Amino acid sequence: MATRTTRRGFFRGAGRSAAGFAAALALAPPSSHGVAEGAQPAGKARYWNKLEDGTLQCVLCPHACNIPAGRSGQCRARAARDDKIVSLVYGQAAVVKAEPIERHGLFHVHPGTSVLTMGTAGCVLACKYCSTYTVSQGDPENVEAQAVSPEHAIESAQQAGCAGIAFGVNDPVVQLEYVIDTAKLAREAGLYTMAHTSGFINPEPLKEACAVIDAFNVDLKGFTESFYRSVTGGKLAAVQAAIETIREQDVWMEITNLVVPGQNDKTTYVTKMCEWILGTCGPDIPLHFAAFFPRYRFAAPAYSATKADVLRDLRKEAYKAGLRFAYVGNVPTERAGQTTYCPKCLQPIIERLGYEARNVAFNSKSRRCMACNCEIPGVWSTGVVKPTPPPPRPEPEKKAEEKPAAPAKKPGAKPSAKKEQPAPAAKK
Ligand code: SF4
Repeated sequence: MATRTTRRGFFRGAGRSAAGFAAALALAPPSSHGVAEGAQPAGKARYWNKLEDGTLQCVLCPHACNIPAGRSGQCRARAARDDKIVSLVYGQAAVVKAEPIERHGLFHVHPGTSVLTMGTAGCVLACKYCSTYTVSQGDPENVEAQAVSPEHAIESAQQAGCAGIAFGVNDPVVQLEYVIDTAKLAREAGLYTMAHTSGFINPEPLKEACAVIDAFNVDLKGFTESFYRSVTGGKLAAVQAAIETIREQDVWMEITNLVVPGQNDKTTYVTKMCEWILGTCGPDIPLHFAAFFPRYRFAAPAYSATKADVLRDLRKEAYKAGLRFAYVGNVPTERAGQTTYCPKCLQPIIERLGYEARNVAFNSKSRRCMACNCEIPGVWSTGVVKPTPPPPRPEPEKKAEEKPAAPAKKPGAKPSAKKEQPAPAAKK
């Protein structure tokens, strides 16, 4: 597990290493759009099958696209070519930039460090409010990209002074082969990695990612199937299964819930969501309530931004439900809602303003609150503090022991003279 962040780095905050980053980018040779001839190693797409009738089926995400020759899947990032499914985005970075890890809704992972954020064209979902839709809903052939090999990504991150690499912008699921290849190299090079994902991915590829990724932020976009179907094109049950898998694989995870006024902001739904998180992941999984801003298909004036007070109220609901770390997101001026409080003595231990993190009472050596010595869960510079496991699930009710079936009556046999006993009268 990553142990790279220096204590000094923790205090320095965001806006780091911009000059170094620019220099690193200059190393990246531009490619033509989409997959350049010869630039894309053949067979780089995994997670697909050839069915008995010759159909090529991608099994990376629950859409399970059957892709006809020459066409792309629903995400636009994978296509059927020469009787196999290929990735159109392997190493084709549409976005490469250095930014604070806090931008990805990870508050308990190397706070105050920078990551090299990488994203491509394409996405497994089609959220109507997507903030990066020009890339995520774009076709790889039309979205400008530059070739960045896994080795080059590591080199660029190091030269930019980043402590890690973040796969985000679009859903990294569509470039999972690249994510895994790069994350393996990053670990060898002493960089941490994170994936900011919708969690719309099948369990087997997700488990492979869990083996090499240090942390996830999963967008749990709502808590009803109807919201998922109508607003994102995904399925809540599949995302819940992914969250359970990440938890079972023992990888650090934080959850973001983007709150869209009038769509997914009912307190009753949010309370149910918090209770589900508590029961599935335990009390220590940080939950970020993030503000929505009108954009893409949910544009103004029909839609308006989420008020900070709504997010603050939902944060209180999360605490009431039993979660121990809840935050307000996408409101850079928010101070209390972005602060990490010790769950035991309630002292502020890490403050944030904008995307700057400031250590006020966190002993990063012992990974404990300086005031009361409570251990704080997270992926810290000196090691990992695992979250408290979820409470045990209630035992499923045991079925009444099955009695052997009575022998079949012979035809013509007389009914038994024994009468059924009446139910005993209830005792008063
Ligand atoms: S990853 Fe893309 S091609 Fe594969 S099943 Fe999902 S949407 Fe379809």
